[in-house]
Amino acid sequence: MTVQRVFIEDQVDAPAADAHRFLHRVAVATGADVTEGSEHPVARRLIREFNGGLAFGLIRPCPHVPPAPAITWWLPRAPDALHCVHCAVGQLITIHGTREDSRCDGCSQLVDAITPTAAAAGALIVSAGLCRPCFEDTTT
Ligand SMILES: [Zn+2]
Ligand SMILES: [Zn+2]
Repeated sequence: MTVQRVFIEDQVDAPAADAHRFLHRVAVATGADVTEGSEHPVARRLIREFNGGLAFGLIRPCPHVPPAPAITWWLPRAPDALHCVHCAVGQLITIHGTREDSRCDGCSQLVDAITPTAAAAGALIVSAGLCRPCFEDTTT
């Protein structure tokens, strides 16, 4: 196990209370569909994708992720990075209002309506914009 992986796993295993409080504020502010745990099918799928990237050493923390436990973000549209909140928001602002903002993170199709969704697993927040079929897909 690499130091990098241990470092990232420490981030994932950090206390969850801050992440859940933060996620709740995001849900209130944006109307995003926020799950309270990692058992929702979408949350399971996103966390599985994150863990796959982690297992293959594909995910690197942005330069602002501190060595102490902190809220971190993983976004399927930037799958090679574990983001601090500023970089995660930067990713979302970059595409806001563009054609890419209508691209489903699940199937990569451009669609009329995206369902923003997020879930917390420990201090890790996974967040995606999904088309309705991908959001409602409970088979994965
Ligand atoms: Zn950052
Ligand atoms: Zn989709």
